[in-house]
Amino acid sequence: MKIGVFGGTFDPVHTGHMISAVEARKTLKLDKVIFIPAFQSPHKGEPGSDTNRLQMLESAVESYPFFEIDTFELKNKGLSYTYDTVKYLTNKYAGDELYFLIGTDQYDNFEKWYRYQSLLEMIHFAVMRRHDSNAVILEPFIDVGQPVIEISSTDIRHRIKKQDEYRHLLPESVYGYIKENNLYET
Ligand code: ATP
Repeated sequence: MKIGVFGGTFDPVHTGHMISAVEARKTLKLDKVIFIPAFQSPHKGEPGSDTNRLQMLESAVESYPFFEIDTFELKNKGLSYTYDTVKYLTNKYAGDELYFLIGTDQYDNFEKWYRYQSLLEMIHFAVMRRHDSNAVILEPFIDVGQPVIEISSTDIRHRIKKQDEYRHLLPESVYGYIKENNLYET
């Protein structure tokens, strides 16, 4: 099997994530994509509640038969190092071909990742374009070549705080969950 691995904070999951995962699946001919929510990314500040992030992610992926969620990083707590996650996945899916999906912001930052050189030998990396559509993606990274979708969780959180429109930027179920639980308002 060819399996995509989509790590992220998903605070909240948005349409940019969904489109990117669907496009990457098509381009790379993946049988499925496994979303892996981080407990806490080593490169970002403390995220919102893991329970809320997971519930929103579950509601977003549930109607896609080729998407699933693995809670390895949430269960481990602490800082979520991709190196540990990839070690776990290559063991669990020995014999399968794994593709880790990242946006160009993570590609630009890649040399700051823990044990990034080893990582490149453990799993394929495929890059999804964000912001700079002309960025040159160097080998061994694979260019997914999907259209740029200018949506980020940070922008959505800001919009909610400012009471700007944001409903169109995420799945309807995630919008409902945010409203019901008054998330990101302060
Ligand atoms: P934040 O704004 O809080 O930093 P984010 O929108 O970047 O969050 P993450 O959950 O941190 O979302 O992203 C997980 C992965 O998805 C990262 O590799 C990121 O580059 C990628 N990604 C997020 N949004 C997009 C998008 N609109 N297009 C392509 N890739 C994306």
